[in-house]
Amino acid sequence: MGLATSYQLGKRKASVLVLERFKFLNQQGSSAGFSRQYRIPYPDEYMVNMALEAQPYWDELQTHTPKTLMDKVGTLWFGDPNVHSTEGNIAAAEKAMDAAGVKYTTLTSKEVEDQYHFRNLPSNYTGLFQADGASIDLVATLETLHDLNLKSPSVTLKEFSPVYQINQIDGIFHVTTPEGTHLAKKLVITPGPYINNVLNLLNFKVSVTYWEMASAYFKKKQNLIFNTLPGLYFRKLSEKTEISFTDSRKLPGTTLVTSVWHLILLLNHLQVLISAPLFQTLRNWLIPLNGLKIT
Ligand SMILES: Cc1cc2nc3c(=O)[nH]c(=O)nc-3n(C[C@H](O)[C@H](O)[C@H](O)COP(=O)(O)OP(=O)(O)OC[C@H]3O[C@@H](n4cnc5c(N)ncnc54)[C@H](O)[C@@H]3O)c2cc1C
Repeated sequence: MGLATSYQLGKRKASVLVLERFKFLNQQGSSAGFSRQYRIPYPDEYMVNMALEAQPYWDELQTHTPKTLMDKVGTLWFGDPNVHSTEGNIAAAEKAMDAAGVKYTTLTSKEVEDQYHFRNLPSNYTGLFQADGASIDLVATLETLHDLNLKSPSVTLKEFSPVYQINQIDGIFHVTTPEGTHLAKKLVITPGPYINNVLNLLNFKVSVTYWEMASAYFKKKQNLIFNTLPGLYFRKLSEKTEISFTDSRKLPGTTLVTSVWHLILLLNHLQVLISAPLFQTLRNWLIPLNGLKIT
């Protein structure tokens, strides 16, 4: 969201500074991993409309890269139409799409089996297929946005710049990172799951719910690029947090430095031990040793 916002603001010739706590294109926020689904079926009408409004921005972004950002495979959604899940509810999504005039196909349980090769589905299941749904190439999307921002004369990108203080003095925001304080008339705050850490700096918070989600990627071809896999995994087990480090890069001589760096990131993430200036010093010391893009 931050890179998309700065890109759009840069196009309007607004002077923009983007402050990123970790490295750009990191694996520590919501935009980790390889892919995302783009879909129009949402149970809320405003979400359906937002998905539709996003389309021209996707089309414009696509003109800047030869890589396919959205693979339009369509959205197939099936199950018990009365079940309300974190992803929504089929019946409500159909209603919201009807209100927005979005075309889709409804399917019976048998049609889902016949057309999409599922087996033994409960007979009360219904399905819907919406043809504009797509699989988003997340890495290509982020890289394209990052490149566009790098090229924009209006945008300055600063990574490893965690914002830890925000004051508003005479209508001007004073935003402090370990490197110093930046002044701005306007702030766009897009810290993803860290939202309340940042909003706390402005003395308010929003009510958000975080839920644990298991996700898996399945190999389509042999030559998947493994060096962009996240190297740090968290798993919360009751009151204890179990942490395992996995260096997926397997490059000689880098594991120790990478692990030390992950430990620092973790401590920084957990907001213990590491003060912001010390974090910055350690970063400056470790990154050249490694010579890698460590996330
Ligand atoms: C497993 C998973 C699957 C998902 N699937 C889908 C899907 O299929 N379709 C879909 O539409 N959405 C999906 N989502 C949601 C979607 O990925 C997120 O909504 C989106 O990535 C959010 O992007 P963002 O830029 O808002 O946040 P982020 O990508 O988290 O970016 C926020 C950035 O702010 C930085 N930051 C935080 N605090 C500070 C600070 N104090 N100072 C400086 N920088 C800071 C962080 O380091 C981070 O880089 C999924 C999310 C997850 C986790």
